[in-house]
Amino acid sequence: MESNLLELLELVDSRQDELVDLLSLLIRYKTPAPPARNTEEVQQFIADFLNKKGFMIDKWDVYPGDPNVVGVLKGKRSDEYQSLIVNGHVDVAEVSETEEWEVDPFTPIVKDGVVIGRGAADMKGGMAGALFAIQLMHEAGIDLPGDLIFQSVIGEEVGEAGTLECCKRGYKADFALVVDTSNLQIQGQGGVITGWITVKSKQTHHDATRKNMIHAGGQLFGASAIEKMMKVIQGLQDLERHWSVMKSYPGYDPGTNTINPAVIEGGRHAAFIADECRLWITVHFYPNETHEQVAKEIEEHIQLVAKADPWLRENPPTFEWGGSSMIVDRGEIFPSLEVDPEHQAVKTLSGCHESTLYEQPVIGVSPTVTDGGWFGDAGIPAAIYGPGELKHAHSINEQVSIQQLVDYTKVVLRFMFEWCHTKK
Ligand SMILES: [Zn+2]
Repeated sequence: MESNLLELLELVDSRQDELVDLLSLLIRYKTPAPPARNTEEVQQFIADFLNKKGFMIDKWDVYPGDPNVVGVLKGKRSDEYQSLIVNGHVDVAEVSETEEWEVDPFTPIVKDGVVIGRGAADMKGGMAGALFAIQLMHEAGIDLPGDLIFQSVIGEEVGEAGTLECCKRGYKADFALVVDTSNLQIQGQGGVITGWITVKSKQTHHDATRKNMIHAGGQLFGASAIEKMMKVIQGLQDLERHWSVMKSYPGYDPGTNTINPAVIEGGRHAAFIADECRLWITVHFYPNETHEQVAKEIEEHIQLVAKADPWLRENPPTFEWGGSSMIVDRGEIFPSLEVDPEHQAVKTLSGCHESTLYEQPVIGVSPTVTDGGWFGDAGIPAAIYGPGELKHAHSINEQVSIQQLVDYTKVVLRFMFEWCHTKK
């Protein structure tokens, strides 16, 4: 078997043009999110691709025009051997009209050993590598004893939980590999949760009453919701600073856990005292924290801030956390993911990386967030491992190195093969 595998790995080198073609083809499907709702065609392509390799296909609309695809290749001895989920998203970051690309972002080119095009790094490169590895195994007639489940999901770029939908639909495995941008490092991640904080007055006042509510003897118990939100923001800054001093996690610069006041909306008209103000915040937290826990910390702290203010005490701020889409309900959650270096699958993946590339992989943390957190949330051990560098993701002239893509495809092929040949 081992000699078979080595021959297969050599095929990745000799057939790398096909790998590059597959990546170019994926890039040519225009799938930016926003605007989203444009993945039907690429998902049908992936469904057909997997179907021809013996996978049973489950395809369903998460949103109209944005279906998820899950392919299941049932192992011939499922009960005894380890199963694997390979997960990636097909949506890519948006391209704005002012961006000056060297090429049309959706007409990829090969130049100086890299493929340039939107999604090359994030993450059609990872998708192409994993799909090509599946193709080579299929052509070689390899029957994996453990189950292999390929999840091609939508919406990641706008916080739409395509992967959560797969988990909710009941897909699970002994390990999940998220093939998103990691520069061939094995990564966990911190998490992100967004939230809305609302300060609201029970009464509405004409702006001429302001003197009565702010000056001595005015006798009007009222306030501008915008001005009271300033206290909330100050409270958030105090908590953020406290977190940066007191919390840390290996692999992260201190202070990576931030609370960003991202968007503020308030007041109805210049003839009124602002009776409502809403603040949209983005909270980044560490892999060993949960979104529920950080949301609770923020609420508790801000309610104490409110208690110290006579008006806010009577009109406490309210909180709405998370959401299922940045473009539909203006909110998102990316749960965190801790990678256990001692987990058998992580050791196997490290071993595959080492024996293919003759170097030990870095096991660390992603400075960004991916769908990996949903597996952590669902209790499925997981790691992020993909080609491409984060500095290229979402950038002008987004690119991936062909050599790295080839290396990646070899490692991921080997990992699928070895993990699904590992006894439970
Ligand atoms: Zn991504």
